[in-house]
Amino acid sequence: MKLEILGSFGGNADTYRLTSLLVNDCLALDAGCLTSALTFERQLPIRNVMVSHAHSDHIGTLPYLIDNVFGYSDGPLRIHGSAAVIQALKDHVFNDVIWPDFSKLPSPSSPSMVFETLHAERPVHIGSLRVTPIPVNHLVPCTGFLVECQEQGSAFIYTADTAQTDRVWEIANATDNLKCVIVDCSFPNHLEDLAVASGHMTPQMLARDLKKLERKIPILVYHLKPSFERQMAEELDALGLELLNYRIQGQVIHI
Ligand SMILES: [Zn+2]
Ligand SMILES: [Zn+2]
Repeated sequence: MKLEILGSFGGNADTYRLTSLLVNDCLALDAGCLTSALTFERQLPIRNVMVSHAHSDHIGTLPYLIDNVFGYSDGPLRIHGSAAVIQALKDHVFNDVIWPDFSKLPSPSSPSMVFETLHAERPVHIGSLRVTPIPVNHLVPCTGFLVECQEQGSAFIYTADTAQTDRVWEIANATDNLKCVIVDCSFPNHLEDLAVASGHMTPQMLARDLKKLERKIPILVYHLKPSFERQMAEELDALGLELLNYRIQGQVIHI
């Protein structure tokens, strides 16, 4: 399985890209930077996008991706999300005001985009990949994803935006072939109250949550706020966790 970290930040500035992961060149997890990180040619093979939640930093490039691939691909682009996510996308983005409703274009019978509703812990199969949504602890309904490659017998978990949570770690502990976890850490330690209120983690909160993980696997930290990057780097280094890495944007990981 090829996992590409296209964007790994919880804020946007020059080289700091918002969150998107790309699996096997064709499945995207979140759409923070799909059209800004990928050439037009690399956008065309994306046939499925899993959306963790409806916050702008995770859906921002979805309208432009659909616009780019419109008319170029065989079938529709499939947007997967919980019922709450899909309703938010319909109401607030693809509503013929902010952006055209591509689920009716070029015609309702042959649309260029379809919505697929995800249900908690019910896996969906996309080619050789099996993706299981796991509800997490954020300000709005949000699901992380367990992504398993059935051909290679490998798996990873992307927690998506979350404060401290349990179920993700239970599933991580029960997944024998788990190779890495990509986990939220957004604010420095002195802003723990803000992190809790907004459904995110600080380095100290992350360290407490990681005690629930019984596996020695790489921990890839995403969603750092660029304005706090230097301070958070010091605080994350101070945790002394040798398998933890927060410089992950641009990495291509074969697992
Ligand atoms: Zn969020
Ligand atoms: Zn976010």
